Amino acid sequence: MSDVPYDFVIIGSGPAGQKAAIQASKKGCRVALIERDRQVGGSCVYRGTIPSKTLRENALQLARASQCQQAVTVQVEQHAPMNHLMSRLQQVLDSHDHLIADQLGRNGITCIHGRATFKNPHEVAVTRVDGTSDTLTGKHVVIATGSRPRSPDDIPVDHEYILDSDSVLSMCYLPESMLVLGSGVIACEYASIFALLGVNVTMVDRFASPLGFLDPDLSARFQDSFEAFGGRFVGNAKVSDIYWDGACEVVARMDNGLQLSAEKALFALGRMANVDSLGLAAAGLEVNQYGILDADENCQTKVPHIYAVGDVIGAPALASSSMDQGRRAVRHALGLPPGAPAHTIPSGIYTIPEIASVGLTELQARKEYGSVKVAKVDFAEVARGQIAGIQDGLLKMVSDPEGKYLLGCQIVGEGATELIHLAQMALVSQQPVDIFVENIFNFPTLAEAYRIGALAVIAQRGAANDESSLAAVV
Ligand SMILES: Cc1cc2nc3c(=O)[nH]c(=O)nc-3n(C[C@H](O)[C@H](O)[C@H](O)COP(=O)(O)OP(=O)(O)OC[C@H]3O[C@@H](n4cnc5c(N)ncnc54)[C@H](O)[C@@H]3O)c2cc1C
Repeated sequence: MSDVPYDFVIIGSGPAGQKAAIQASKKGCRVALIERDRQVGGSCVYRGTIPSKTLRENALQLARASQCQQAVTVQVEQHAPMNHLMSRLQQVLDSHDHLIADQLGRNGITCIHGRATFKNPHEVAVTRVDGTSDTLTGKHVVIATGSRPRSPDDIPVDHEYILDSDSVLSMCYLPESMLVLGSGVIACEYASIFALLGVNVTMVDRFASPLGFLDPDLSARFQDSFEAFGGRFVGNAKVSDIYWDGACEVVARMDNGLQLSAEKALFALGRMANVDSLGLAAAGLEVNQYGILDADENCQTKVPHIYAVGDVIGAPALASSSMDQGRRAVRHALGLPPGAPAHTIPSGIYTIPEIASVGLTELQARKEYGSVKVAKVDFAEVARGQIAGIQDGLLKMVSDPEGKYLLGCQIVGEGATELIHLAQMALVSQQPVDIFVENIFNFPTLAEAYRIGALAVIAQRGAANDESSLAAVV
């Protein structure tokens, strides 16, 4: 039994738990951070964001090198070892590990490795790998235990032939072909990365198009690019049976009679909160019908001194939003102003090409405001797009019916996840669309697309309610 009561006992060292711990220690609190893995950082660092983005960056660098065909010939070897394709990963992980450990150390946070389970609402037992156990008492407790890939009983994920998003990067070699089941964010990110690396990728989903929750202009552009570098999308099909044939292939049968096979399959159909081993009942908590914890906008659960942050409370389930939730929860617990909750959370999807969105889509804006003004700018019209060979991009600006204020922005194309923050800043500070015209941006930049889009919105001001004037700029 630990005789030191902590101000905060934080369970989980992913982005949510880390930022909660740092915020608490910055306010002079005694903080214990419990992590069951050997290293701190969470899924984000070891199984999600960082590894997938490292592979993506390497795939893009290879693709860019092969664009300079007159100077060099670059081709990814069939069956190239994955560790060669992820060559910089260990370096990235080491520097991340160093950075996080250093931050936690500098802030005097006590890091304890073991599995946490509630004994009662203020006491958390930590069981180490050697079986020994301690009990920590916390004035406040923050649950930041994250999520893991969903694995339904009828999908025999064996991590060798049928993989999930945790095991996909432990493949030894680049396969010749891959089936990707699902077409959400993680499925599309991996499908497009492997397709760019030359793998024969077939993505299957019960919906008609990939990333179906997006503005249709964006998902159509993504599908075009994916298919342009060899990927195939099969929509309106649900897998009814999938198995490894024991020799060389994974075979998947669809409910519409179609049969597909490939060397490997990746199952990426959602994630589940890590709550099973927490002993929630002892804390006076339970999960809701979606298997996640309920929490209010300050991440407070129904037990007032227990907060839940990050993937464990569900959407948007991003590293970016998880960090903010950690900070917000601690500030609320300490009676400090947490700041207004962010209503304009940008989403970044690291497919190839990238996709990003903030605010309302055209469809949502039309439902809410009626006849909105829309501008679509093709990256091919932007000098930087031509120079950098980024021509399959599109920036879409959605403004109110008067064409005065931005309501939302969606972008597909390399650079989208960075570019979107300009729209985000205009949205949160409620700037008129004119700000993109009356200010000078560097040239040549992809950000020039905002200026072109704003000009197109302004041009529509005189033609209110004329639906035909909402046409694309190009
Ligand atoms: C393939 C992939 C790509 C992604 N790409 C992006 C991206 O590009 N951008 C983005 O913003 N987000 C991305 N995400 C999402 C992002 O990784 C998560 O939203 C984020 O990691 C959630 O942070 P968290 O702190 O809630 O949980 P996690 O990062 O999952 O950390 C939770 C930690 O809690 C620990 N834990 C669990 N139970 C216990 C217990 N009982 N006791 C002690 N410790 C415990 C776990 O070991 C883990 O270390 C991606 C996810 C995946 C899977």
